[in-house]
Amino acid sequence: MAPIDALPPLREVIKRYALRPKKSLGQNFLHDLNLTARIARAAGPLDGISVVEVGPGPGGLTRALLAEGARRVVAVERDDRAIKALGEVAAHYPGRLTVVSGDALEFNARNVLADGQARVVANLPYNIATALLVGWLTEEPWPPWYDSLVLMFQREVAERIVAGPGSKTYGRLSVLAGWRTQAKILFDVKPSAFIPPPKVTSSVVQLIPRPEPAPCDASALQRVTEAAFGQRRKMLRQSLKTLGADAITLLGAAGIAPTARAEDIPVEGFVALARAFAR
Ligand code: SAM
Repeated sequence: MAPIDALPPLREVIKRYALRPKKSLGQNFLHDLNLTARIARAAGPLDGISVVEVGPGPGGLTRALLAEGARRVVAVERDDRAIKALGEVAAHYPGRLTVVSGDALEFNARNVLADGQARVVANLPYNIATALLVGWLTEEPWPPWYDSLVLMFQREVAERIVAGPGSKTYGRLSVLAGWRTQAKILFDVKPSAFIPPPKVTSSVVQLIPRPEPAPCDASALQRVTEAAFGQRRKMLRQSLKTLGADAITLLGAAGIAPTARAEDIPVEGFVALARAFAR
């Protein structure tokens, strides 16, 4: 396969900028530009699109996004060594890469994006991956500023995101994701694709915002699912007691049997519960 750009191979970038991976920053770097191109293509076509990337690291995915035609990439990174390495990428694609130094959890994309379509594509640091996803799923107003999220997670987290009722992995994250998006696993990535190789398989997940999810307060939905799945083996009449509201009344208002358990309730049921709770 032809190289995606005239920049040095990623292993050389990692060596040159002494990017010894730090566990505290969730650093598992991709080293194969064919794979980063595959991820970028999964998020495509990118012509005319502004992409927000969290944690560009040595820039493998960043380069693929730019080579695939993204109008602009805004990359948020908190490791200064990586920010230095990205200078070469920025010079290679003049005016198309903006590197923001800082914590992605504090970053507000709306402040830096101009008009037009925007998308999030990232190989997320595993230690804040769920927090970042919850932030994107609870954006207000809705529909959000992005038209899709294409994100790499540990396989176990990816399974929780896409799970449906009746599954052991169905939980708070599945309800939140299912409420506001259509989520699916696109493909798996084996540990050997990373430096250093993580212990587990990773998966690339695509989440497309639903234009009109059932109206519901995101924080009420989070409270209700937290209570219900916090004691997932118990009947809801018991587990919902931690909400401090009358569980039987809430369940009655939502049309759910008091003897049902969290993992049997579809997303619409949790939305009805959250609406009853927020009343
Ligand atoms: N995108 C690169 C790749 O695929 O090779 C690196 C991915 S690595 C899994 C996660 C990246 O997120 C690292 O570069 C790390 O420094 C960065 N990171 C970790 N915590 C961060 C935070 N709170 N805000 C922004 N970037 C962060």
